[in-house]
Amino acid sequence: MNDCIFCKIIKKEIPASVVYEDEEILAFDDIRPQAPVHTLIIPKIHLASLKEASPEQAALLGKILIQAREIARLKGIDATGYRVVLNTGPDSGQEVLHIHFHLLGGRRLGWPPG
Ligand code: AMP
Ligand code: ZN
Repeated sequence: MNDCIFCKIIKKEIPASVVYEDEEILAFDDIRPQAPVHTLIIPKIHLASLKEASPEQAALLGKILIQAREIARLKGIDATGYRVVLNTGPDSGQEVLHIHFHLLGGRRLGWPPG
């Protein structure tokens, strides 16, 4: 996708603070962090949201969750806990239409979320 900001980050056309990268996924710190740890984890294929995901992408999405756990460990919030958030569609407040998992932690997170 030419105009997708996260595809541009994947192609290194826009800078990002990369935390983890492999052939399928990329993780980078959120530019407007909502917690001491706020990292976004995305697939390198352009997929707008969970709504567009197919069953064939189950392994890829599962891999992102497992990587979220590893990043939580790297960031030192493994013991204190964290939240993984996947906003989907207007009511969730999803702004960027390239599926992304938020990893949040490093402070007590309120529940229910706003
Ligand atoms: P969402 O509201 O779920 O679509 O989340 C989009 C997230 O992307 C927000 O938390 C933004 O702060 C973050 N974001 C937008 N542009 C960038 C960027 N260039 N680098 C890092 N994070 C970004
Ligand atoms: Zn994209």
